[in-house]
Amino acid sequence: MICPKCSSENIHRSRHRSRWESLRKSLSTKRIYRCHDCSWRGWLESSSGKKNVSPQHRVITYVMVIIIALFAVWMLTIYLQ
Ligand SMILES: [Zn+2]
Repeated sequence: MICPKCSSENIHRSRHRSRWESLRKSLSTKRIYRCHDCSWRGWLESSSGKKNVSPQHRVITYVMVIIIALFAVWMLTIYLQ
């Protein structure tokens, strides 16, 4: 992998910091990377590709996101009353 900011090869996978990043990771084939030379941190297409994400797992994840979104809207509706 090459850093998009400084073109350094000193770039490594970074741990996700939040639930949102964890969720996004599960929805995407992109992974968080960090450059040790310029401290860049961001999302890049995983070098392992899409083959390790099964379509079934992807559907389950989307359903979970919809449920969470509906729950959030429901909670907001109660809060606004
Ligand atoms: Zn860099």
